[in-house]
Amino acid sequence: MDEVAPGVFVATAELYMTTTTVVAGADGGCLVIDPAVTVAELDALASWLSARGLRPVAGWSTHPHWDHVLWSSSLGDVVRYATRRAVEVAARELPGLVSGMEEAAPGHDLALFARLAPLAAPEIPWRGPRATVLTHDAHAPGHGAVFLPDTGVLVAGDMCSDTEIPLLGMEAAETDPFGRYRHGLGVLADVPGVRVVVPGHGHVGDAAEFRRRVAADFGYLDAAQAGRDVADERLAAAAPWLLAEHDRQRALGY
Ligand SMILES: [Zn+2]
Repeated sequence: MDEVAPGVFVATAELYMTTTTVVAGADGGCLVIDPAVTVAELDALASWLSARGLRPVAGWSTHPHWDHVLWSSSLGDVVRYATRRAVEVAARELPGLVSGMEEAAPGHDLALFARLAPLAAPEIPWRGPRATVLTHDAHAPGHGAVFLPDTGVLVAGDMCSDTEIPLLGMEAAETDPFGRYRHGLGVLADVPGVRVVVPGHGHVGDAAEFRRRVAADFGYLDAAQAGRDVADERLAAAAPWLLAEHDRQRALGY
C-alpha cells in the first residue's frame, strides 16, 4: 500500500497491475474503490485495513468490468455504489462478468460479486473527503471516475494508464467509439487541480504525468482512428491481448 496523498492509499495487484484505492474518512471509516483482484488480495486488503484501524463504510466501482466489481465478506457489508448506467450494464452482462472473473481470478463470493447500488448524485455520500463522480461512456458504459478535490487525486478507472493504450470497450463498434472515448478523456482532462492520477491498471502519476498521458491517449486515438501506425511506448511492451485490442481498434477506424 502506497500513501499517494494524505489519507489516500493505493495497492497494486500483480494481475494487469490492477489498482485498489482506499480513502480514509471520519472515525476510522474508509471508502474502497475497485478492490482487486484475487480472493487472497482482497483478504490481505481487509487485514491491512484492520491493522490500520480502518473499516470500509462505502465502496465504489468505477465501471462494469469484472475486475472492478469485486468484493469480499472480509471487507464488511457496506453499500457499494456505481453510476446508474454501470449498475444496469453489470446486471445485464452478469453471466459474462462472472465467467471473466472465474477464468482469471476464481473463487470470489458470487453473492457479493457486482452487487452494486446506483448513485445518481454527483458526489459519493459518505463521511470523509469529498469524492466527486465524473461520468462518461469511454471504455465502458457509465464509467465513473472519482476526483478528491481536497488532495487533487483522480481515481481514473480504466483510463490514463501508462501500461495500457486507450481501450474502447466491447460495444465499441456500435456508435462512434472514438468520439465517445475522446469525450470521456476530455471530461477527465477538464478536471481542475489534478495532482495525482491513479489508473485502474498501471502506475500512479503526478500532475505532469497526468497531462502526458492525456496527450498520449488523444494521440493514440487520432492515429488509430486514421488507421495510421501508432508510435506508442505502451505498444512496444504490450502483451499479446493488448496488441490484439490495438489491431481490433485500428480496424474500427476510417
Ligand atoms: Zn475495464
